[in-house]
Amino acid sequence: MSGDQDSNISCSRWILSISRWFDSEAGIDAIDINDDKQVDWFRIVPLIGMHIACLGVIRVGWSPIAVITAIALYLVRMFAITGFYHRYFSHRAFKTNRFWQFAFGILGNSSVQRGPLWWAAHHRHHHRFADQRQDVHSPLQHGFWWSHIGWMTSRSNFPTRYKYVKDWESYPELRWLNRYDTVVPILLAVSLFVFGKFCETVHPELGTSGPQMLVWGFFISTTVLLHGTVTINSFDHMFGRRRFDTPDTSRNNVLLSLLTLGEGWHNNHHHYPVAARQGFYWWEIDITYYLLVGLSWFGIVRDLRPVPVGRLAANRIRNSNHADGRPASKTTK
Ligand SMILES: [Zn+2]
Ligand SMILES: [Zn+2]
Repeated sequence: MSGDQDSNISCSRWILSISRWFDSEAGIDAIDINDDKQVDWFRIVPLIGMHIACLGVIRVGWSPIAVITAIALYLVRMFAITGFYHRYFSHRAFKTNRFWQFAFGILGNSSVQRGPLWWAAHHRHHHRFADQRQDVHSPLQHGFWWSHIGWMTSRSNFPTRYKYVKDWESYPELRWLNRYDTVVPILLAVSLFVFGKFCETVHPELGTSGPQMLVWGFFISTTVLLHGTVTINSFDHMFGRRRFDTPDTSRNNVLLSLLTLGEGWHNNHHHYPVAARQGFYWWEIDITYYLLVGLSWFGIVRDLRPVPVGRLAANRIRNSNHADGRPASKTTK
């Protein structure tokens, strides 16, 4: 192959990578999904930029309203990810109607964790191959950093694995949201900037500004939210206790549960993934589940799937403190 051909190919490659900032299915057929460890540097420039933009706090400073906005957006969007991207779109742990399905899909999408179908497809793949070589974010197989953030920077993990989400393909609004997955985050960022400008002009006593609201409400909140979410892929397959003898390294971890509104009961979840609750006992705090129960009182969600009593007793590890997570004594089936 000539040098000219080489440079033409690499040029069209980076043009495609950049066009995927706006259309996640641009030239998607050209991606080799078996090329599993190649980082797509051009495509992840916005992700890197989002991290660097957090340093803008040095220039814009802080104000109570900006910090409160960042915390509120962290909590609301974490719930959209845990309650809907995870428990609903990935596991169908409860039912809702088409309006709320789309509404929470939009809210989840504002978290900059791609579209609901991409998220659910990769997550179903994780459960199918948990901690086997094919599991794209297994710390056991690929190390901490790859399981935490590296996997989502790779070329091979960029396309939506539609064969795992065939049940959602019949909703054109979800497919649109999934394809143009940066529209909602951009709208959120612009809205926050405008809100900050409005406060600056109309209520200067609040001490905020457009750039400050953008940095806190979007960049800091979203970056912390992203890393909070992916702790479940990395830390929660490494640190914590195992109650159930699952064929993976999943753990229950109370700190991660608080950080992620209930997702830290990950060993429970791998044991029985379709339940609406992941804290299986009253003392296992699962804020996402409490919020789902609250939404069910208003008819927004319904038919929350419980954990069958028989499943609570199955595959218990008698000494669940065992440091490496393997059963210390024979399990009960
Ligand atoms: Zn897992
Ligand atoms: Zn799951």
